[in-house]
Amino acid sequence: MSQSASLHTHQVVVIGAGAAGTSVAASLLRQRPGLDVAIVEPGDVHYYQPALTLVGGGAYSLAKTARPQAQTLPKGARWIRAAAQELQPEQNRIILDDGRSFGYDILVVTPGLKLDWDKVEGLRETLGRNGVCSNYDPSVAEYTWQCIKQFRGGKAFFTQPPAPIKCAGAPQKIAYLAADYFRKNQIAGQSELRFYAAGGALFSVPDFVPHLEKVARRHNIGLLMNHNLVAVNGDTKEATFRFTDGEGEAREITERFDLLHVTPPQCAPDFVKASPLANADGWVDVDQHSLQHVRFPNVFSLGDCSSLPTSKTAAAVRKQSPVAATNILAQLANGQLKASYDGYTSCPIVTGYGKVMLAEFVYGGKVTPTLPLSPFKESAFYWQVKKRALPPFYFDYMLRGREGDIAHKAR
Ligand SMILES: Cc1cc2nc3c(=O)[nH]c(=O)nc-3n(C[C@H](O)[C@H](O)[C@H](O)COP(=O)(O)OP(=O)(O)OC[C@H]3O[C@@H](n4cnc5c(N)ncnc54)[C@H](O)[C@@H]3O)c2cc1C
Repeated sequence: MSQSASLHTHQVVVIGAGAAGTSVAASLLRQRPGLDVAIVEPGDVHYYQPALTLVGGGAYSLAKTARPQAQTLPKGARWIRAAAQELQPEQNRIILDDGRSFGYDILVVTPGLKLDWDKVEGLRETLGRNGVCSNYDPSVAEYTWQCIKQFRGGKAFFTQPPAPIKCAGAPQKIAYLAADYFRKNQIAGQSELRFYAAGGALFSVPDFVPHLEKVARRHNIGLLMNHNLVAVNGDTKEATFRFTDGEGEAREITERFDLLHVTPPQCAPDFVKASPLANADGWVDVDQHSLQHVRFPNVFSLGDCSSLPTSKTAAAVRKQSPVAATNILAQLANGQLKASYDGYTSCPIVTGYGKVMLAEFVYGGKVTPTLPLSPFKESAFYWQVKKRALPPFYFDYMLRGREGDIAHKAR
C-alpha cells in the first residue's frame, strides 16, 4: 500500500481503546504476537460502562467500574496518547490533535459515539445539580444515586432520546430501580414517575415490549412515547418536551420536575462524521457481516461508532471483535474474509433490585438466548450475572482478547 516516505506507518492502527478497540487489538496480538499494532487513545481511564446503571442505583461502586488505561491496553501494542482528528483513507493516513500523522496498512475505527449534551438546551449547565442527573457520564453517575436517595416525593422523570443510543435499555433500567427504591422506602405514594421516550416504543425488539410495559405498569410509571426532551431549566426545575399532537402538529410542553434522569442525544464523533468513511448518518459505513468498510477494504469498524444495524452494546462488541480480528488478519494476508457477524447483541434490562430480564437478539430482532431460560422472565440469576460475573468477564477475559463462547440461538 502506498505511503508517503516520511510517514511513520504501523501494520494496524486502532482508534479508540474502549470495549471494541481494546478487545480487537488484544485478539490480534493473541493470534499474531509481534504484529505491529498502535492504539490511539487520549483517555487515562477505561470505564466498564454497563455497570454505571448500578452505580446510579446505588448497587455498585464507581471505583470498581474504572481501571487505568495502562492496565487494560494489550501488552505488545503501542499506545499513542492523543485523539484522532482527521481521517484520510485515500492516503492511508490519520492526523492527530497534537499534529502528528501516522500511516497504516489496516485501520480499525472504534472511538465509540458522541454524547451530544448540547442538543438539549440548558442541560450541560445544570447536569449534576438541581436534581438533574445522568448515568451516561461517569463523573455524574453517583449524583443519580444521591438524587434517588434524597427524593422525598414529587415528580421523577426519566428520558430517552431518539435512536440510536448506546444500551437502549439503560434509560428505563434506572426508572425501574428508582421506582423500586421509592416503593421500599414508602415514598411511592407521594411520587409520580414518568418515562418520556422520543421513539414510539419502549424497546426496539417488539417481542420484549409487552413484558416491559407490564414492568412499567407494576412500578406505576407513566409511559409518554414520542416525547423528546429539548430543554431543561435547572433553576426553575422545568423540562420541555417536543411531541406531535393528534392533528400532526409539532408542539411543546413544559413540566416541573423534582428529579430528572437524562439520557443525552447521541451521534457519531465529529471527526468520523466529517470523514470519507461516514455514511449519510455519520456512522462508519461497514458491511454488516464482515465489518469491513464498504469503500475502503483496509478499514474495519465495530462498536458504537459503526453503522452496524444492531443495538449498540458491549455485549455486541464481544461478538463483533472475533469477527473483526479474523477478517483483519485475512485482509493483511490478502485472503478471503470468512468470518461473519450475525448482529448479536444483548441488554440485561434491570427491572428492580435483584431482577434482570436478559434481552438477547440478532439482526431482524430475532430473540436468541444463550441459556435455555425464558428471555421474558425477570430473573435473580441474571442480576447476579450482571453485577458479579460480567465486570470481571469484561476486564479479564473480553478485553484480553479471549474469545471462548457459548453459542446463542433461537429457542
Ligand atoms: C449507562 C450505560 C449503560 C450501559 N449498559 C450496558 C449493558 O448493560 N450492557 C452492554 O453490553 N452495554 C452497555 N452499555 C454500552 C456499552 O458500554 C458500549 O456499547 C460499549 O462500551 C461500546 O464500545 P466502544 O468501544 O464502541 O466505545 P467505548 O467503550 O465508549 O470506547 C470508545 C473509546 O474511544 C476513545 N475515543 C473517543 N474519541 C477518540 C478519538 N478522537 N481518538 C481516539 N480515541 C477516541 C474514548 O476515549 C474511548 O476510550 C452501556 C453504556 C452506558 C453509558
